[in-house]
Amino acid sequence: MVFKVEIERKKCTSCGNCVDECPEYFEIDEDGFSHLKGSERVGDNDELELEDGDCSIDAAMGCPVVCIHVYEDGEEIS
Ligand code: SF4
Repeated sequence: MVFKVEIERKKCTSCGNCVDECPEYFEIDEDGFSHLKGSERVGDNDELELEDGDCSIDAAMGCPVVCIHVYEDGEEIS
């Protein structure tokens, strides 16, 4: 199974919830917006492939502006 996590960084309000929920993968970058550690920047978004969705699903559910998306084998699950 392949998981992909994506942040639409333009929508991020820098609230910090994702970092609290999932510090393993999320941090606030120098520009003040959420960043996926070790991710690829694709346009305005961060994208990261994982073997396990793990706490990124909690981070997605806790994002007040729904700008974190988690895909499992290409299908959005959160
Ligand atoms: S929870 Fe959402 S809005 Fe808040 S810092 Fe993370 S990505 Fe940005």
